[in-house]
Amino acid sequence: MLQFNKGLFYRDLAIDSLNGHTKKFNLVTHAHSDHFRPLKKLRNIYVSKETRDLILRENSFLRDRTVVLKNKNNLENHKIELLNAGHILGSSQFLLDNKLLVTGDICFEDSLLFKRADVVETENLVIEATFGSPDYVFPERKQIYSNMVEFVETNIQKNNLVVFGGYSLGKNQELIALLNKMGIEPGVSERTAIVSEVYNKNGFNLKFHKTEEANNEEVLVVSSSHLSSDLVYALQKSLRRKVVPALCTGWAQNAFFSSRLRNFYLFPLSSHADFSQLLSFVQEVKPKQVFTYYGFDKELAFYIQRKLRIPARPLNKSKEQTFLTEFL
Ligand SMILES: [Zn+2]
Repeated sequence: MLQFNKGLFYRDLAIDSLNGHTKKFNLVTHAHSDHFRPLKKLRNIYVSKETRDLILRENSFLRDRTVVLKNKNNLENHKIELLNAGHILGSSQFLLDNKLLVTGDICFEDSLLFKRADVVETENLVIEATFGSPDYVFPERKQIYSNMVEFVETNIQKNNLVVFGGYSLGKNQELIALLNKMGIEPGVSERTAIVSEVYNKNGFNLKFHKTEEANNEEVLVVSSSHLSSDLVYALQKSLRRKVVPALCTGWAQNAFFSSRLRNFYLFPLSSHADFSQLLSFVQEVKPKQVFTYYGFDKELAFYIQRKLRIPARPLNKSKEQTFLTEFL
């Protein structure tokens, strides 16, 4: 039986449980805080090697409670296969018992840092729907990168300070990689530096430094939650130099979001699959049925049925639908 309630629960497995419930085996797809919470009582945590490194960097008390999964694992009577999710360092999809693929968060387009999510054909698919609405179709990544390069070059020529804001885990490492490709070593905020060091310990070669004197910088990379109009105003005042803020997020496609951020440059650079990528992914997995979770779950299920003619429904919309006894 598969249940969904702020986490997926399947027999004695819990996947990305955030509701305090634990099972014999607690699997975590990736280290973002909306998929993993370092609960005191959490034990038997099963993760990829890189996800373990990210989790332990800030929660060392979990050291003896985390187990690294191999690509193929037998946990008692479960077969668990790990597949690349293409989302952030260590992000994994789980293929359970050769019949159920759980995506966690996926990106289905190669980026500067990761290959797109792996595909495996399987009968049952649980797929994330963060951008599962036709309103969220992003330009090609190459195009977004080239727009960003042009934006940075133009501002550097004018001696402006560019401040990029993105998620400290995932987006900001992609920003650093893009800037490195341009020959720029950005100044970064504390948490972005901590996470980027974990990336480098896992084979990346990101060049950055912690910002001390912003006036000597060409480009800063900070957490999007810190990039506010107040920060821009304060920097501009103290540096006596124009500061140009830019946010990198898939939500840049949203008219309401962008209208509230008129003073910011917005780039729709996302670590998630957009609507078209989600549909392509489903098409390649060739499932007999699909369950959607997170974000626009209802909309994505509707379009999977309409465009792909595959039975699909959201996991989280009604009591009946959270107990999927009929297929497992
Ligand atoms: Zn995520």
